[in-house]
Amino acid sequence: MTSPVWHPFFQHGLNEPIPHVERAEGALLHLAGGGTLIDCIASWWVTTHGHCHPRIVAAIADQAGKLDQLIFAGYTHGPAEEVAQGLVDIAPRAANRDPLAHVFFSDSGSTAVEVALKMALGYWHNRALDGLSEPRHRILVLQHSYHGDTIGAMSVGERGVYNAAWSPLLFDVGTIPFPHAGQEQATLDALEAACAQKPAAFIVEPLILGAGGMLIYPAHVLREMAAICARHDVLFIADEVMTGWGRTGTLFACEQAGVVPDIMAVAKGITGGAIPLAATLASPPIFEAHRSTDRARLFYHSSSYTANAIACAAAAANLAIWREEDVLGRIAALGQGMAQRLARLAEHPAFANPRQLGVIAAIDLIAPDAGYLSDLAPRLRAFAQERGLLLRPLGNTIYLMPPYCLDADQLDRVFAVLQKAGDAFGASA
Ligand SMILES: *Cc1c(COP(=O)(O)O)cnc(C)c1O
Repeated sequence: MTSPVWHPFFQHGLNEPIPHVERAEGALLHLAGGGTLIDCIASWWVTTHGHCHPRIVAAIADQAGKLDQLIFAGYTHGPAEEVAQGLVDIAPRAANRDPLAHVFFSDSGSTAVEVALKMALGYWHNRALDGLSEPRHRILVLQHSYHGDTIGAMSVGERGVYNAAWSPLLFDVGTIPFPHAGQEQATLDALEAACAQKPAAFIVEPLILGAGGMLIYPAHVLREMAAICARHDVLFIADEVMTGWGRTGTLFACEQAGVVPDIMAVAKGITGGAIPLAATLASPPIFEAHRSTDRARLFYHSSSYTANAIACAAAAANLAIWREEDVLGRIAALGQGMAQRLARLAEHPAFANPRQLGVIAAIDLIAPDAGYLSDLAPRLRAFAQERGLLLRPLGNTIYLMPPYCLDADQLDRVFAVLQKAGDAFGASA
């Protein structure tokens, strides 16, 4: 029987199997017809505490019977107010910087990024109307970045096979080279030079580029990049969609660099990964540039489900978990367990370039044909799946980004399969 479902990032022409998952709990996915998979990638980077966390499930059930959905243009509800205040309370802050005091809701990481870009351009547009500055339009990006799959989000992301079909629609950006080890100063110099041309904003994934291959760069570079932007009045946009909610060892990655962005996008783990919600946080100058008695200056962006009450209730429950439980302690312990096992795996001759930040671990498989389009990644995925793991390598990069409830036995099982993958797929195999 063929299904009408068209899957994302999936080549239907290859007839690869599509596992059917019936239910999930913690780090485990239960397959229809029996069997389980350990969710090694947090169901594509969203699940934080674990699947079907009882507090989040209860909050969703409770809210669903009270208020499901409300127009958010000029109306409000308790869960949205609670989440907005909760986000402001935990956002990165510093004494010498404007706080992120305003919260704009949307539905996905891509839309949170679109909103961030529109806010930045809106800021410069409205300031120009007031004669306070020249208009600024250009966006700077970091090489190898990923910010989502809508047109604007693709425009600020790395160009490649995954967006070639739409290249005529993508707007032009200034690309700053990735700060590879030893080349940090070249990145900072390029940013300095680009900022002198008065761009509107610079958007970055703080500390680690996810889809770009789990590329890690040091906190001092992030800090210096933000400082350069501040010196040139270039808005600094942090895309914390993946890095947020503890993945890098702190609640937000920017904290490790003492950076307070002008605009910050969050999504994925904001509801613990249970239900879609996103938010774009902005500093007062961004908000004030849109606040006016003139209706023409309001921020023209909305989607039907903006601040959906059920999603906000899930996010409120997630925020309560962060306030009341030692989530960072759990993350530190898991990170340690991953680090020990990663070091052992790195001794395998098939692997190179082990790296880890918080509870994101990655390692490259030395294999003859390793490009993004090679069939290595899907073959690795199938190999892991037959052995009880949900993995999704990026080319020859195998990474783990598990839910924080993953226990030591499960970790052992995961790394045992990775050792076997090295035996089976390594260049020497
Ligand atoms: C996943 C991701 C996005 C897009 O989020 P969606 O919810 O999938 O639209 C944006 N930025 C980064 C850094 C991401 O990892």
